[in-house]
Amino acid sequence: MGNSLTSRSQDYSQWYNDLILKGGLADYSAVRGCMVIKPYGFGLWENMRDVLDRKFKETGHQNAYFPLFVPKSLFEAEEKNAEGFAKECAVVTHYRLKADPDNKGKLIVDPNARLEEELVVRPTSEAIIWNTYKNWIQSYRDLPILINQWANVVRWEMRTRLFLRTAEFLWQEGHTAHATKAEAIEETKKMLDVYADFAEQYMALPVLRGVKSANERFAGAEDTYCIEALMQDGKALQAGTSHFLGQNFAKAFDVKFADKENKLEYVWATSWGVSTRLIGALVMAHSDDEGLVIPPRIAPLQVVIVPIYSKDEAMKARLDAKAGEIIKELRAKGVSVKYDNDDSNRPGWKFAEHELRGVPVRIALGPRDMENNLAEVARRDTKEKLSVSLDGISNYVADLLEEIQQQMFNKALKFREENSRNADTWEEFVRLLDEQPGFIYAHWDGTPETEEKIKELTKATIRCIPLDNPQEEGKCILTGSPSAQRVVFARAY
Ligand code: AMP
Repeated sequence: MGNSLTSRSQDYSQWYNDLILKGGLADYSAVRGCMVIKPYGFGLWENMRDVLDRKFKETGHQNAYFPLFVPKSLFEAEEKNAEGFAKECAVVTHYRLKADPDNKGKLIVDPNARLEEELVVRPTSEAIIWNTYKNWIQSYRDLPILINQWANVVRWEMRTRLFLRTAEFLWQEGHTAHATKAEAIEETKKMLDVYADFAEQYMALPVLRGVKSANERFAGAEDTYCIEALMQDGKALQAGTSHFLGQNFAKAFDVKFADKENKLEYVWATSWGVSTRLIGALVMAHSDDEGLVIPPRIAPLQVVIVPIYSKDEAMKARLDAKAGEIIKELRAKGVSVKYDNDDSNRPGWKFAEHELRGVPVRIALGPRDMENNLAEVARRDTKEKLSVSLDGISNYVADLLEEIQQQMFNKALKFREENSRNADTWEEFVRLLDEQPGFIYAHWDGTPETEEKIKELTKATIRCIPLDNPQEEGKCILTGSPSAQRVVFARAY
């Protein structure tokens, strides 16, 4: 059968690709590293987007839109940012094609249509946005500016993977401007909390909140805060970032404001983003060998009802009528539900299909159950099946969706706890990475050189220095130099 999936234990990364492709989330495209997001995957993204968008607005932000292209001279303005992204930039040099005189039916770039200034396809929008903010900010009365944009960006990644790392991806990027350092830092942390709450409450994905080491910091930031999640193969995934940009972009674009004493000061900045990578995180964290497992709160479809038709036309009509009642009740509760009464597929095939796509709850309505006023309710996460009375079934299902949401989070949290360990020696560190990968809490001497060396030797990186990290005297696992706290290491996507 076309739907046979690779199991996790056989080949984790093939399992992941199988789920994305066969689960109907995305497809490969004609462009290397760029994917087609299919309707089911886009439905998932829309649900994520809607929740986040509401949270951004509740915290005082507004949406706006800035151009896809950044003139190279603007892009260069903040040197560290430019240097950090330079090797991943797609650049537009020409604006016209023309017929190839030597090759009928082919087109060539028109050499007479060279742009005076090259345009960088945005890998991130700080440059174009701060060049605009310059015109918007004169006095403290113009601050803060709290803007978000939903957009696509391009980073010419060499090693790509569906959703997790693509050359073009969809994201949101918040860009805020503040009068004081304290206010900008507060904003950076506030948005990290928005991301963490979203990941935990909607995606059922427990995350560590922390700060990146200098090596892993966003190019142009003073501090990068992040949420880090653990995947089922014990690898970490950076799921969202919130940057305190200091006055770096204000200085690069000469953005000053007059404070209350009429003194000119540089503006303080933040930026923060999550991307379609979150869909990859969701798949890798929750799914199983039968297919996708999607948490109810962001599932494109929460409930599917499958009738088990018999030849008896009167019974068929009764099943349809009953399904109609249940659908009406569920929709009134805000539950998304589909009646899969398509006659061309058998119920068993439909069951497998909805399982593959991770629909949280399936209700099967059959003649025998109907006579007994029952339906079979199956939950996707545990694959438990229960006979449920048709009286009050919509209440039962609505409660069940919440229970599934909670249990998926608990399961992922338990997994993370079981796969978080301390390592106190180099030998232990290396053994854990190979035998029981996960989050490894270890002492580090705080230098970029040591972090780089550890990465070279083991491919493990510092995922974050957790916020509210307990202070604990120890010795660096590599150099033995003193350390005041443990940091979190892992191999990562
Ligand atoms: P950054 O601007 O590098 O802090 O990244 C912002 C967000 O985009 C983070 O949540 C990253 O996880 C995500 N991200 C970075 N690069 C990619 C990529 N190539 N594909 C998908 N998501 C990405």
